[in-house]
Amino acid sequence: MGDTVVSSFDVAVVGLGAAGSSLVRSLALDGISTIGFDQFHPPHEIGSSHGETRLTRVANGEGDVYAPMALRSIEIWRELEQETGEELFVECGAIIISNPDQVAERIVRKNFLRETQSVAERFGIPHEILDAEEIRYRFPHFGISDSDRAYYEPGAGYLKPELCISTQLAAAQRIGASLRFGTKVQSIEGRGGGVVITTNDESLEVGRVAVCAGPWAGELLGPPFLAALKPYRQTLHWFPIDGEYKEAWQAGPAFTWPHGTGSGDFFYGFPYLPSTGFAKVGTEGFAATTHPDLSLSIDQNAAWQVFERHLRGRLLGLHPTGAVSKSCQYTVTSDFQFVIDHHPDNENIWIISACSGHGFKHSPAVGEAVAALLNRVEPSVDLSGFALDRLDLF
Ligand SMILES: Cc1cc2nc3c(=O)[nH]c(=O)nc-3n(C[C@H](O)[C@H](O)[C@H](O)COP(=O)(O)OP(=O)(O)OC[C@H]3O[C@@H](n4cnc5c(N)ncnc54)[C@H](O)[C@@H]3O)c2cc1C
Repeated sequence: MGDTVVSSFDVAVVGLGAAGSSLVRSLALDGISTIGFDQFHPPHEIGSSHGETRLTRVANGEGDVYAPMALRSIEIWRELEQETGEELFVECGAIIISNPDQVAERIVRKNFLRETQSVAERFGIPHEILDAEEIRYRFPHFGISDSDRAYYEPGAGYLKPELCISTQLAAAQRIGASLRFGTKVQSIEGRGGGVVITTNDESLEVGRVAVCAGPWAGELLGPPFLAALKPYRQTLHWFPIDGEYKEAWQAGPAFTWPHGTGSGDFFYGFPYLPSTGFAKVGTEGFAATTHPDLSLSIDQNAAWQVFERHLRGRLLGLHPTGAVSKSCQYTVTSDFQFVIDHHPDNENIWIISACSGHGFKHSPAVGEAVAALLNRVEPSVDLSGFALDRLDLF
């Protein structure tokens, strides 16, 4: 490889998934000279942003900080829809069903229904609380116990992650961002007042770097990030729907269903998806970390196990015969909140990990706010709670 080329790019973004695609668009909109790199060709099926759907709600039981971000993100998704004519956000409503007296052994979402309800009340987000009878009446495809209650947010729904990413990348390119696909960044190193990025082909000096590498962030940044940003494999399953329940599934909301006190007693899902005619369900597991380069192939019997453990009697009209399964990766911090901060040793290197399983919905507001920070402007949403020094490792 030749000498380092001193470039005129103010910012390089490493990783062009959910976080990176939003950021390159926002940087380009702000008139900042931007280059983006991705080792693959996003959208792709290897990181954290695939699988057809991502739930979005304005009230999020993970914390108050997320409501303004979700609101701003929905505005940006709608702006992008206007610009491109694409449908990115399907506003089908979203429901959380659980026994509100159960408190689960989890780090977040211990009592997700009540936590979400109180965020909605504090921020004036339109919602309804439904008793068991009302849930059964409105959503006959859910098998409800008498002790169940629901938080229902009519303005919520799901995003189409692959389309969101490709739309943002195309928009970024149209307004001047330079994007390099199939280019893996091998190292990032502060030098003088800038940062040197080394790929297989070249060494480039830029002003600042934003690392949006999703599950690969720890590997690229090294310790202590390897321990702070841990990848966990999660599974997704698409189930065929019986004719008898098809209408209910077509009209139904996206759903989140904590159904016990164990850390894994939780699933979420989406109504009838026109692309496949199936309904999709996901679970969460944190028993063992993974490596992002390991194969994402999955035992196709996994859908049967998920059905028996979580869905039987709860999701009516779904059956595991003919189900299709995939896996995807969460990048998780110890408190399940995001990391958005500069590197402890270099203020020109930023780390943006908007994940822990709830980052997609917020990615455009995060991209806009990080672009503002990189432009030395006050961001419109508060990112101070995502500083690295809240974590024991920093
Ligand atoms: C199964 C599952 C379900 C989820 N459900 C929801 C949900 O319902 N709602 C919600 O809001 N969020 C949800 N999330 C979380 C959300 O999807 C993630 O927060 C988000 O997709 C993370 O995006 P990212 O940009 O950080 O990572 P990614 O989208 O994985 O992007 C990282 C990119 O960096 C690139 N890269 C990595 N290293 C390098 C390198 N060295 N050089 C060049 N490129 C590199 C990769 O190729 C990749 O394209 C879910 C996540 C999963 C896995």
